[in-house]
Amino acid sequence: MNAPAPRPLLSLDEALERLVAGASKQALTQTEQVSTFEALGRVLAEDVRSTIDVPPADNTSMDGYALRAADVPSAGAVLPVSQRIPAGVVGAPLQPGTAARIFTGAQVPAGADAVVMQEQCVTVVGGLVRVDAVPESGQWIRRRGEDIAAGATVLNRGARLNAQALGLAASVGRASLTVVRRPRVALFSTGDELAMPGDTLKPGAIYNSNRFTLRGVLQAAGCDVQDLGIVPDRLDATRAALREAALRNDLIVTSGGVSVGEEDHLRPAMLAEGRLDLWQIAMKPGKPLAFGAVRRPADAGGGEALFIGLPGNPVSSWVTCLLAVMPVLRALQGMPAAAPHAIAVRADFDWPKPDRRREFLRVRFNAEGGVELFPNQSSGVLTSAVWADGLVDNPSGQAIHRGDTVRFLSLAELTSR
Ligand code: AMP
Ligand code: MG
Repeated sequence: MNAPAPRPLLSLDEALERLVAGASKQALTQTEQVSTFEALGRVLAEDVRSTIDVPPADNTSMDGYALRAADVPSAGAVLPVSQRIPAGVVGAPLQPGTAARIFTGAQVPAGADAVVMQEQCVTVVGGLVRVDAVPESGQWIRRRGEDIAAGATVLNRGARLNAQALGLAASVGRASLTVVRRPRVALFSTGDELAMPGDTLKPGAIYNSNRFTLRGVLQAAGCDVQDLGIVPDRLDATRAALREAALRNDLIVTSGGVSVGEEDHLRPAMLAEGRLDLWQIAMKPGKPLAFGAVRRPADAGGGEALFIGLPGNPVSSWVTCLLAVMPVLRALQGMPAAAPHAIAVRADFDWPKPDRRREFLRVRFNAEGGVELFPNQSSGVLTSAVWADGLVDNPSGQAIHRGDTVRFLSLAELTSR
């Protein structure tokens, strides 16, 4: 029997281009209006413009006295206190030659051009204040509109709403936001060796960790996950799972079974239920990756569900989910295609025997600001993923010497993009 001709490896960037192009064609068009309270992690489907200035008026950033700088030409000037202005109260215009007692966040009264902090003032009997520092005009005043001017766009369509973004939307008065509907993603694991935590481990079995890792990544990315559990290593079962998954989902993510072993049924199942490209990607971990689509019956809306088959090894499926599935989810939600930021960091380790494939090494920061390598970089060692702060993105064939500058991808960013 002739061995099949080895297929050239596809670069990760080429694979991503194809994946993102495929997903962009199926970008979700449905949007929904959600309360700003409930919008954490969602993707904006509108530009958010402010109709107001923020802050809406000049206000003080200190507890102290509002006055006219010209009324305090030298330290020790004594002024009558003409009014008291707590936050939320609008004072009367300031009488020249007087000071207003004022508290942080209160609007600065008309006529005042400076605030002197209370630590530099002494109250004097008879309703007077002695000002012990010469103020500069404008000091301790937050100007109207200095954060946001009315009419400015504060958040752009396609932005993922993190906590700060929700705060910003609230600061311009938005009680609800238009967001893209959540991507619906089906997830299943293949492998007859898999058992669920809670089951007794029979000889030959291992616990299904990918189900938890991948589900977690997808949920954290705001997906509505349909978890189809473990699918047995049989063609009919794999086909049935794909058909069910396609019914209501935009994307099907699976782990395992994408090699070309006799027990790897995803390829024939996908070819029967839709279409498939089986790729060998020049990356480590994560070489085999399958991409395709499953037909959806006309009575379920027609069209197709995208499919990404991740490798079975726990670190491989996790890394490929972060590097390849996340960009697909971004494209589906109309987010701009953007590579994760690589940060230049110092390697405090040696990597003398690099792979011919581009490698993603599990590393973490030490107290000296360099990164250290997890000693076992095997694609089955999930401990490395929990230990790590990020991945060093190492080009193919490049040895690393202690002290070299390497490209670091932070897990915090990879999991929240
Ligand atoms: P496969 O891609 O199906 O050949 O699997 C590659 C390796 O990953 C094998 O050692 C599997 O036992 C392991 N594996 C596959 N799926 C899972 C899973 N869901 N959880 C943990 N390990 C898995
Ligand atoms: Mg398998």
